[in-house]
Amino acid sequence: MGKRIATFILWGITCAVAFENPVETFLNKILSDAKKQSAVEAQMLDEKSELLDLMNETVITNNTLLAQVKDIIYNVRTEVKEIQPLKENVETLKTEISRLTRETQKFEENITYTNRCPTCKKPLLPEFKVCPYCGENIKLLPEKMISLREYK
Ligand SMILES: [Zn+2]
Repeated sequence: MGKRIATFILWGITCAVAFENPVETFLNKILSDAKKQSAVEAQMLDEKSELLDLMNETVITNNTLLAQVKDIIYNVRTEVKEIQPLKENVETLKTEISRLTRETQKFEENITYTNRCPTCKKPLLPEFKVCPYCGENIKLLPEKMISLREYK
């Protein structure tokens, strides 16, 4: 009985000695791995911080670029704002011109109508006193000119 216990204890000690080292080695390995890991991580962090610096620089550069783009957009906007009234003026002018064109057309139609020979209906110049087509005496013209003036 006593021998069995002694054997068990001995086995236990042997186990403890046998396992102590591997455990310690294992723990040390983990620790050193952790240290190595930390070193690697520190290096990685350094690299990352360099990268971060680069990114930061890029961001700053981009910011400068963005600011420049903003400036350009602002300037363009201001120019557009300045151009806008001009455009509106041009639009007003266009409308006015088309209105005038219509008026002129109406006027011309009236003139053409007024300066037609009453007999043969052929177009005549205002200064014609006699129709060159049919020889009609154009005495009605001054009367029609009055209606033209009225139109005005
Ligand atoms: Zn005629």
